[in-house]
Amino acid sequence: MLNGKIALVTGSTSGIGLGIAHALAAQGCAVMLNGFGDHAEIERARAEIETRHGVRVMHHGANLIHPHEVYELIEWTCARLGAIDILVNNAGIQYTAAVEDFPHAKWDAILATNLSAPFHAIHHTLPFMRRNGWGRIVNTASVLGLVASVNKAAYVAAKHGLIGLTKVVALETAGSGITCNAICPGWVRTALVETQFQARAKQLNVSTEEGAHQLLGEKQPSKQFVTVEQIGQLVVFLCSDAAAQITGAALPIDGGWTAQ
Ligand code: NAD
Repeated sequence: MLNGKIALVTGSTSGIGLGIAHALAAQGCAVMLNGFGDHAEIERARAEIETRHGVRVMHHGANLIHPHEVYELIEWTCARLGAIDILVNNAGIQYTAAVEDFPHAKWDAILATNLSAPFHAIHHTLPFMRRNGWGRIVNTASVLGLVASVNKAAYVAAKHGLIGLTKVVALETAGSGITCNAICPGWVRTALVETQFQARAKQLNVSTEEGAHQLLGEKQPSKQFVTVEQIGQLVVFLCSDAAAQITGAALPIDGGWTAQ
């Protein structure tokens, strides 16, 4: 369905981003991976996507906290793969503490990674998309872009901001063949949330599994984790022709979390 398209997925060396990269590659997209991790593991993941789906896959380790590295990533992707048709701003980090205890450096890092990096990536990528008259921008927000939760001031602020940015870009690109949407997952079992499960387990003196299910049950009525495969398929749909008139939306994929 997306044969010959070129996708950049930030934060795709693990978790949700890796799932999105697999899903787009399965539809025929060449993919630029981005993110941190063990060099050999990243190479194994890159080679696996390439051989399984028969598409070109590369990796760039830009640290998106730095705007100039976001720019280098965009330039490098266009130089090596030819263009960027699909931009998935997915890289994100988390830190939990009450507002009065929240370290300034953590606030700055979360805002830089979760909000400013998508701005810089969109800013540099849009001219390439406009030249082609087609583009898909998908921002990985969160249910916490729609509702709040205690001890997550920076993350909630950044994800609400990302949904605002999504709407502005959608309006500025409306009718141009380019769409911009946000996806809003509930709990997904990845490295990002594991420390929260461990902390809850410690607090209750139960196993990590029990801690995870306690937190899941509090917020997500389905009491089932969202999977990275389900999120990958949502992104594929947003990249399809059927979704050409979906723009500026913030789509929950959250087992009912935000219906409450
Ligand atoms: P993860 O920790 O598995 O993945 C995060 C990815 O971002 C990794 O590839 C990591 O290397 C990369 N990354 C982090 N900082 C970076 C930086 N400065 N520069 C470049 N890459 C960087 O976590 P995940 O759960 O897969 O998170 C992916 C996205 O999904 C995040 O934006 C997160 O906020 C969002 N999200 C996650 C959940 C969840 O329950 N896991 C729910 C809603 C939204």
